[in-house]
Amino acid sequence: MRKSLKPRTEALKVQPRLDVILVGEDESSRIYVHMKQKMAARLGIKSRLHELAAHATLKDVQDRITALNHNPEVHGILLQLPLPSHLPANEILSFIDPKKDVDGLTPTSQGQLLSHLEGFVPCTPLGILKLMEFYKIPIRGQNILIVGKSALVGRPIALCLMHMGATITIAHRHTRLLAEHSHHADVIICAAGHPNLIRAEHLGRPCSLIDVGINRLENGKIVGDMDFEEILKNPFCQGITPVPGGIGKMTIQALMANTVLAAERFTDSDS
Ligand code: NAD
Repeated sequence: MRKSLKPRTEALKVQPRLDVILVGEDESSRIYVHMKQKMAARLGIKSRLHELAAHATLKDVQDRITALNHNPEVHGILLQLPLPSHLPANEILSFIDPKKDVDGLTPTSQGQLLSHLEGFVPCTPLGILKLMEFYKIPIRGQNILIVGKSALVGRPIALCLMHMGATITIAHRHTRLLAEHSHHADVIICAAGHPNLIRAEHLGRPCSLIDVGINRLENGKIVGDMDFEEILKNPFCQGITPVPGGIGKMTIQALMANTVLAAERFTDSDS
């Protein structure tokens, strides 16, 4: 993905620009924003960080988004989540101009995905799709189990894969007997935020495993939602993504891809 983005960036008449809004002091969010800005610089994408205090009001955030919506130099706007608890994330996301919604989370982008119309695919699902494409993991006609039904990961990746011809099962915290579903799966994608949720005994046939979860254990270690070591020993395991260094990295690349796409669409509509 990185190789293919550089020439696209260089071919543009304008330098793509991504503006990130960070509200409050969340330490993990700060690390993620730093990683995104570092990758943007590597690819020749300009980035600007807008830091708002933890006590910022709805109007403060809305005003900042409105200014960025109207600034023709800005191609992508990313609202770093989670927001402080007094701010309504869904309402605030809806202020972002869908043409600049490189995170794919505005109601318009989500509706476009549901209706199978051109828009922006959210970054983590896009990263998953690119990974599946690269490793030639079959999709059409396959049984794909998705664990987690969030607006950020579970629901959009389910829609994307369904549009591509997979048979989708979505499991969530109220699902009984996860193994009954996982045993039929050709692919398992887990985004639950629950260490060791998927274990070797969950495999019932040859299966590719995509671990989206990011969990920090008490000893500080970062792990996913899957028991990586034990699953690797199961002969049904066709491959499993590591945490860290798997879907997290793909998500950042996908954000860069969406930013370049936004700049391409902007220059196309301008010419
Ligand atoms: P979320 O809390 O919004 O959703 C979690 C989902 O998992 C819910 O639908 C819930 O019903 C389900 N779930 C929880 N416990 C379960 C259980 N025991 N069995 C079955 N389902 C269960 O979270 P989210 O924003 O979708 O994130 C999920 C995980 O993915 C988190 O660990 C998050 O850090 C990680 N994440 C990683 C990336 C990345 O770039 N790798 C991006 C987004 C989220």
